[in-house]
Amino acid sequence: MVTTHNLGFPRIGAKRELKFGLERYWKGESSLDELKALGAQLRARHWENQKGLDLVPAGDFAFYDQVLDMSFTLGNLPERVQGFHGDQLDNAFRVARGRSAHGAEDHAACCGGVAAGEMTKWFDTNYHYIVPEFTADTQFNLDTSRLSGQLREARELGVKAKPVIIGPLTYLWLGKARDDSDKLALLPRIMPVYRALLDYFRVMDVEWVQIDEPILVTELDPAWRAAFATAYEGFELRSVKLLLATYFGQLQENLDLACSLPVDGLHIDAINARAEVALAAQKLPGECVLSVGAVNGRNIWKTDLNATLDWLEPLAKQLGERLWIAPSCSLLHVPVDLDSEVKLDAEIRSWLAFGLQKLDEVKVLATALNAGRDQVAAVLAANAAAVQARRESPRVNNPAVKAAIARIDAQLGNRQHAYAERAAKQATRLKLPAFPTTTIGSFPQTAQIRQARSQFRSGALDDAGYRAAMRAEIERIVREQEQLGLDVLVHGEAERNDMVEYFGEQLDGYAFSQFGWVQSYGSRCVKPPILFGDISRPKAMTVEWITYAQSLTDKPMKGMLTGPVTILNWSFVRDDQPRSVSCYQLALAIREEVLDLEKAGVGVIQIDEAALREGLPLRRAQWGEYLRWAVESFRITANGVGDDTQIHTHMCYSEFNDIMASIADMDADVITIETSRSNMELLDAFDDFRYPNEIGPGVYDIHSPNIPTEAHIVQLMQKAAERIPAERLWVNPDCGLKTRQWAEVIPALTNMVAAARTLRGQVQ
Ligand code: GLN
Ligand code: ZN
Repeated sequence: MVTTHNLGFPRIGAKRELKFGLERYWKGESSLDELKALGAQLRARHWENQKGLDLVPAGDFAFYDQVLDMSFTLGNLPERVQGFHGDQLDNAFRVARGRSAHGAEDHAACCGGVAAGEMTKWFDTNYHYIVPEFTADTQFNLDTSRLSGQLREARELGVKAKPVIIGPLTYLWLGKARDDSDKLALLPRIMPVYRALLDYFRVMDVEWVQIDEPILVTELDPAWRAAFATAYEGFELRSVKLLLATYFGQLQENLDLACSLPVDGLHIDAINARAEVALAAQKLPGECVLSVGAVNGRNIWKTDLNATLDWLEPLAKQLGERLWIAPSCSLLHVPVDLDSEVKLDAEIRSWLAFGLQKLDEVKVLATALNAGRDQVAAVLAANAAAVQARRESPRVNNPAVKAAIARIDAQLGNRQHAYAERAAKQATRLKLPAFPTTTIGSFPQTAQIRQARSQFRSGALDDAGYRAAMRAEIERIVREQEQLGLDVLVHGEAERNDMVEYFGEQLDGYAFSQFGWVQSYGSRCVKPPILFGDISRPKAMTVEWITYAQSLTDKPMKGMLTGPVTILNWSFVRDDQPRSVSCYQLALAIREEVLDLEKAGVGVIQIDEAALREGLPLRRAQWGEYLRWAVESFRITANGVGDDTQIHTHMCYSEFNDIMASIADMDADVITIETSRSNMELLDAFDDFRYPNEIGPGVYDIHSPNIPTEAHIVQLMQKAAERIPAERLWVNPDCGLKTRQWAEVIPALTNMVAAARTLRGQVQ
C-alpha cells in the first residue's frame, strides 16, 4: 500500500479569513484571543479538508510566516525584540512588521519600538519570508510552545499529524549574518536544539517528522554539502522518523548526497525532477521511503492522472510500502478551492485543480496504485476527457499566434540604429532640458477612482460614465504635472487596478478567478491571472487613454505598458509549453500595442519590467538561458519603433550587478530604477559596466510617507553624476505613486523639480 501525505496547506483561508482577522487585530478592532481562536478554527478546518490522507502536516500554519515561526521555535529572536514582556505572537508581529496591534503597544513603553525584519523571496516563488538574523554570538534555545499547541489540537481532532520543520541547513542558509560572520559556524550550536526538538516530538508520540531542506536543489558550496552529512549524522540516535523534503527543482549533483543521509524517507519534486525519481529509487537504502511529489503543488492545472500512473505503477511495484505520494511542494502557493469559482468559465474550470482538488488527485492516484485503475475508472475517465479537451481546445490553440511565433527572427528585436544615433533624433524631437524630470506612471489612487472602477465592473456605472470619470482624472493629473513643471508627463493609470491584471483582462488567452488568492507575505495576497491559451490582442488596450492625455498638453506624454516578462512572472502559466513560448506570445501582443501608440503620435513609451529579476532560476547554471529569452522578449516588444521614439523601461529593485549585461542588452533608451535608499551606491554596477544609455535613478522613496527635500535630491543626483555622465541622467521617483497621498506627492515632486532646476544651473 502506498502512503499519501501533504507537505503543507495554504493557511490564509479559502475566503482570506486569516488576512482579514490579522488586519482587524492590527487595527485594534479585535483581541489577541479572537485572533488565536481564528487560527485554531482555520487549522481545524484545514485538517478536515485534508481528511483521507494518511499523514497531514502540522506546524505548517503560521500567523505571519513559517520561517519567522521557526526562528521563534529555535529561540533565535533579533536582539531588539528580546525581553519583550507581552505575548509571543505580538512579538512575532513586531519582528515581521515593526509593530503589533494597538493594544499590544501597551508594551511600547517598556519594550520600545522596533525595526521590522528584512523580507525576501522564498526560493523562486512569489512568497516572501522574514529573514532570520544571525551574528557570530547567536545562541539558540528550544521553544516548543507553538508546535505543542498545534500537535495537541491535532490529537484532540483525531488527526494523524506529521510536524513540519525547516531543516538546520536551509534555516541557516535562509538567514543573514549581520556581522558578516560565517553562518555555517553556527551549526554546532543549532544542532543540539534540533536534537532536543526531535526528542520532544517523540514525547508527543509523533512518528514522522517532515524536515524541509529545499536548498538541496540549489548549487551548494562544498562546505555546505559537507555540513549536510555532519548535521544529519548528528540526528542518527533519534527516536522519530525523518522525511527529508526537497522541492522546487532537481537535486542533480546533490542527489547522491541526499540519498546517503541517514534519514527514513526522501521527498522529491517529481514535477521538476521526474528523471531523478528512478535514480533515487535505486540509490536509497533498502528500508528508506521515497516520497514522490507527483501533483504540481505550484500550478493550477489538473494532473494527467493516467500519464502519471503510467510511470508510478512500475515504481509502486518496485518499492511497495516504501512509496509515498504527495503534491510536489507545500500547497501554500496555490488557491484553496476551485469549487468557489462559480463565475469562472465552465470549460476553463474543467481544466483546473486548486489545493483541495490536488489532494483529491493524490488520493485517486493512491487508490489506483493500491487497488487498480478499475477502482477509480470513472474519475480517471473524466480526468482524461478534461486533459484531452484542454489539449485540443481551439481556445488554447490559435494557429495565427503559433505562426507569428514561428516567424520571429533575429531582426525582430533590433532597433533601426544604435543608441547614439537614436538619442540625437530623440533630442531633436523631444527638446528636453538636462536632468529631465518624469514619474514612473501611477498617481495616487483616490477612493473616488477606486469607486468608479468598481461601479463600472458591477454595472452601476455605464461605459460613458466610466470614461468621463477616467478622463476627468487624466485631465486633473495632466494639469497637476504641468503645474509642477515636470518634463515628460504620464496619464496616471487611474483605469488600472493592477499592472498585470489590466493587460491580462484585455488579452485573449487569459482567465481570472474570483477567490484564487495566494499569500505573498503576512496578510498580503495576490490573485495571479491564469494564462491558459495562445495570447493575442483583440484590440488596442491603452491608446485611447494615452492619446487623450497627449491631447491635453504640449509636453511629451509617456505611454505606459507592462512588459511581457513581468506579465508572465506574475501569472499562473501554461504547463503545456515552455515559459519562453508564452513569454514570446506576450511580447508579440504588447509589441502591437507599442506600435499602435507610436502610430498615434506617442513619442515616449515606457515598458515596465518590474519582475524581470524575479524570474531568475534557482540554479545559476540556468540563468543564462532565462535571461536570453527574457531579454529577447523585451526587445521584441520594444524595439520595433523608429529611432525618434524613446523607449523607457522601469525596474522596481536595485540589484543589477549580476545581470548588468542583460539589462544593457535590452537596449532601452532610458531605464528608471529604485535607488533612493541605497544612496546611489547601486549605480556602481552601471558605472563599472559603462552602461551606455540613459538612467533615471530614483530619488524619492515612494514606500515611505517622508517627503525628500530639494537639497537631499540634489545631493543624491550629484552622487549619481559622479558615476554616470550628467547628460545621461534623469530625475524621477523610485516607483509609481499609486499608494501615496496627494498631500505627500505634491510637495515631494515640487522638491524634485526644483532640484532638477538647481542641477541644470550647476552644469551650465
Ligand atoms: N507604472 C507602474 C506604476 O507606476 C510601475 C509599478 C511598478 O513598477 N511596480 O505604478
Ligand atoms: Zn517600480
